[in-house]
Amino acid sequence: MSQIKTVGVVGAGSMGSGIANAFAMNGYQVILRDIKEEFLQGGLQRIEKFMEKSVQRGKLSQEDKEATLGRIQTTTELADFKEVDFVVEAVLEKMDLKQSVFKELEGIVRPEVVLATNTSSLSITEIASVLDNPSRFAGMHFFNPAQVMKLVEVIHGYETSEETAQTVRELAESIGKEVVTVKKDSPGFIVNRIMIPQFIEAIKVLEEGIASVEDIDKAMKYGLNHPMGAFELQDYAGVDIGYYVMEYFAKEFGESRWTPPTTLKNLVRAGRIGRKVGKGYYDYDKK
Ligand code: NAD
Repeated sequence: MSQIKTVGVVGAGSMGSGIANAFAMNGYQVILRDIKEEFLQGGLQRIEKFMEKSVQRGKLSQEDKEATLGRIQTTTELADFKEVDFVVEAVLEKMDLKQSVFKELEGIVRPEVVLATNTSSLSITEIASVLDNPSRFAGMHFFNPAQVMKLVEVIHGYETSEETAQTVRELAESIGKEVVTVKKDSPGFIVNRIMIPQFIEAIKVLEEGIASVEDIDKAMKYGLNHPMGAFELQDYAGVDIGYYVMEYFAKEFGESRWTPPTTLKNLVRAGRIGRKVGKGYYDYDKK
């Protein structure tokens, strides 16, 4: 672990850019890869914006901001990962895409380099199944925004070695994260497995006319001390994200209790997808 100096991050979207930023802020050199220059520029802009806010709040100096940016190199070529000491992937949530990225990476990086995925829901074991050496592979699940959220779930795939998992844990801790170990590869790992039933029950409480969106969120905030209620959180992440995770759980666990409730199904079918911070899709019941 002590030999890790350069981290390769694949995907410069919301998560990839946040992860790249988190490593660079903590002194690591970062190579950030996306498939188009414009996506890399978008990622860099998000990073800059995040740090500019921190500078304005007095949490980061202008010099540290510039030094952090100076540690991030961008590329559209995966071949530039030749010298990286660790890789974390944050491309779109598609099994075949992730598998093809790692298959290609295996032919580029040194054999001892640990490969990790930031997938929220896909099987770590299945992604790793395309590798010649799946023991070097693990899940490294950050939360959004990756620069701010303290938790990293480190997930063992079926073939993940203890050494690999330990490398991921130590690396996450080295950038100030709190780490939990997911000993078995299972849908939703820990956090989403527990959060999704809360979403489902909140929607059912709404559908049964028991309480309004506002009061359900208020109850969770003040009764459970959650920073956001279930509806605010769904809007923050994008309601379609929760919907697809529910469908995935229903299929994987084979239990109807995970089926997305009708209200959510209709929201997604109506195309009310994507993040909707501060202007909730669920607000429609207030009309
Ligand atoms: P996003 O759509 O914002 O970003 C994905 C990026 O991957 C895009 O910029 C896309 O151009 C790029 N990409 C696609 N193919 C690529 C390739 N072959 N090489 C390099 N880049 C490629 O998605 P996101 O929200 O950042 O999610 C990324 C991953 O992180 C997913 O697996 C998701 O499940 C996981 N995740 C998301 C969140 C979240 O809250 N958004 C939280 C934790 C984990």
